[in-house]
Amino acid sequence: MLLPRYSMGVGDRFARQGIAQLDAVMQAQEQGVAVAPVWNKSHREHTIVGSTPADVRAEADAAVKARGFTQPYFVDADHIGLKTVSGFLEASDFFTLDVADFIDTPPQPKDLAAFVEKRRRFLGILEIPGIDTSLEITEKTIADAAKKYLVAVKEAGKIYRHVAEAKGEDRFVTEVSMDETDTPQTPVDLLFILAALAEEGIPAQTIAPRFTGRFNKGVDYVGNVKQFALEFEQDLAVLAFAVREFGLPENLKLSVHSGSDKFSIYGPIRQALRKFDAGVHLKTAGTTWLEELIGLATAGGDGLKIAREVYRGALERFDELCKPYASVIDIDRARLPAVETVETWDGEAFASALRHDPRCPAYNPNLRQLLHVGYKVAAEMGPRYTGVLEQHAAIVAKNVSENIFQRHLRPLFLD
Ligand SMILES: [Zn+2]
Repeated sequence: MLLPRYSMGVGDRFARQGIAQLDAVMQAQEQGVAVAPVWNKSHREHTIVGSTPADVRAEADAAVKARGFTQPYFVDADHIGLKTVSGFLEASDFFTLDVADFIDTPPQPKDLAAFVEKRRRFLGILEIPGIDTSLEITEKTIADAAKKYLVAVKEAGKIYRHVAEAKGEDRFVTEVSMDETDTPQTPVDLLFILAALAEEGIPAQTIAPRFTGRFNKGVDYVGNVKQFALEFEQDLAVLAFAVREFGLPENLKLSVHSGSDKFSIYGPIRQALRKFDAGVHLKTAGTTWLEELIGLATAGGDGLKIAREVYRGALERFDELCKPYASVIDIDRARLPAVETVETWDGEAFASALRHDPRCPAYNPNLRQLLHVGYKVAAEMGPRYTGVLEQHAAIVAKNVSENIFQRHLRPLFLD
């Protein structure tokens, strides 16, 4: 099973926007670029919403059927490990093996020694075609990478073999993710991670490193864009090199776990993809839920009422809701509007505080991040929330589609 050159992780907390998301992909296709949609939902999200992987499969299949979509699409078991994978085996055909928790676990001394021994040929100055910078590789460089990542890669091997046994080897796409960790991986780290993946026999089609900078949920990139651009290009060069050198799958590409909406790095990503004639997988699932809230707010009436209610609930339960996402949000509590203020907002005021338009003076990234992680409040409303969603389905769908097409697909693949 092959993941096409361009793919995009879409997803949707309440499984109501399958068609709206697919419409954005089909609009891009009409304009000349094929991007495979990958419906993803992590174990964490399923637990909070109370949904199952089978629900995601049903949503994706129904949307594809409704629109007569004939191109490849996938259902991603996002950020799974050995402990959480079993519930995903049947419904998913894309597995994101998350081994970030195993980074920095020291390997067995004999494994470490064997790894370094096998990579001696890289010692010295390594010229990687496509980048000006050459990488200096010492014995210590190799050993350091192995100490940090070898056990994590071996864990990925265990998960991969577990999935392969259950599903059959060629019946799913494998991604390996190491993004949910504090220290970014350098291009040299990536080179030796890929060497280890190949040795472990994992046919990874995508790899999600931790890039430099902060990838907070639902808001723009925070960090040095130039540095990001440089490292992204180096990573692409390393990937191309590793495919030939280690015999990894030809279509191996980077997966950018964007945490959604990293608009300021879309330009550099796009340029780098062109320069290296490379593909990419972009995960940007979370904002569909925020587009639902924007749609509901602008619909007014009970839509606006429920949007305000979600904000009230999220503010009251700030600590509880933020906790599972602590490492990927930065909320300045002093800049969150009071519940009483939000009660006075009309639909447009609510929408413009929430909508990710950095040029709009009313845009409030603190409110946006809080609502981003506040979906539990809506989940607990159950049919009351989904009922209002269905009632305002048209305006919500319009916001969902436009967001994916205009803010993500266009700047990355079309403009
Ligand atoms: Zn991730």
